[in-house]
Amino acid sequence: MKTWRKGNLHTHTTNSDGDAPPEHVAGWYEEHGYDWLCISDHNHLTIFSDVEAGSNKWPLLVPGEEVTANSRDLPVHINGYGVKHLVEPFESDSVTETLQENVRRIVEAGGLASINHPNFKWAFSADELLQVDGYRFLEVYNGHPAVNNFGGGGTLSAEEIWDRLLSAGKTVWGLAVDDAHHYTGEFTAGRSNPGRGWVQTRTEKLDLPSVLEAIDQGEFYASNGVEIGDMAVSAKGITLEIEPENGDMSPAKYTTVFHGLNGQILDSVDGLTASYTPSPSDTYVRATVHSSTGNLAWTQPVFLDGRG
Ligand SMILES: [Zn+2]
Ligand SMILES: [Zn+2]
Repeated sequence: MKTWRKGNLHTHTTNSDGDAPPEHVAGWYEEHGYDWLCISDHNHLTIFSDVEAGSNKWPLLVPGEEVTANSRDLPVHINGYGVKHLVEPFESDSVTETLQENVRRIVEAGGLASINHPNFKWAFSADELLQVDGYRFLEVYNGHPAVNNFGGGGTLSAEEIWDRLLSAGKTVWGLAVDDAHHYTGEFTAGRSNPGRGWVQTRTEKLDLPSVLEAIDQGEFYASNGVEIGDMAVSAKGITLEIEPENGDMSPAKYTTVFHGLNGQILDSVDGLTASYTPSPSDTYVRATVHSSTGNLAWTQPVFLDGRG
């Protein structure tokens, strides 16, 4: 039977600018109930020799790298998941060219490419991403305090950028990730601590091919705190059940917002269950669950226009 498997796709260790060694970082995720983890150091492919030797003391480890480039001093960071070897970053004065060439190198290395934190230093937006092909994911939520997930001041949020890409015909899945750097010292909002953004993949087995296939196929939801139990996402529509936070003490309340072309709100449903049946005019449908705690979850879109 397929069950939810929790994983984080973006984190750093002392192999780049994180403050703890890979074993400590993997141990944190093991202790906090994660089933799998991608250590995505800057321009470094962190591999555990004891994992290769078959040890199971860590969560399942997905090979990854944050291919890290600068273009006119703007950060262009692209995660590669399942890469077979280290990818050397490409840099040029064109943000679009830097994005495209690094995506191409990740795909060439056998990986799936994710566009990270577009609003970090306001580096690029939908206009550049619409000109780039071959990436599979966009970070819709990143737990680092400096990434401006929600946009503002005239700039789109990461979620609005996602709708622009989906509306232009791209098949892009939305991720929530930690991008954690700080595993020691204080855990405070201003530091880059773990446990803030994750995905729940739905797989039968917990092994590397199953997790990579689930993320490639969009068989997951993204969250920064909301938990979903039963969920069905297909051409027939989206239905989901929310597992409430805060227990009986002060149970949270929920609104599920269904979005379509250009991010337009198709429907908004209050309560612990929500469903939407597409109409013939819908191009794609996806849901964002809003909790009274401020937490969110994002389902992946279902496409009704025949795109793969
Ligand atoms: Zn980054
Ligand atoms: Zn990072």
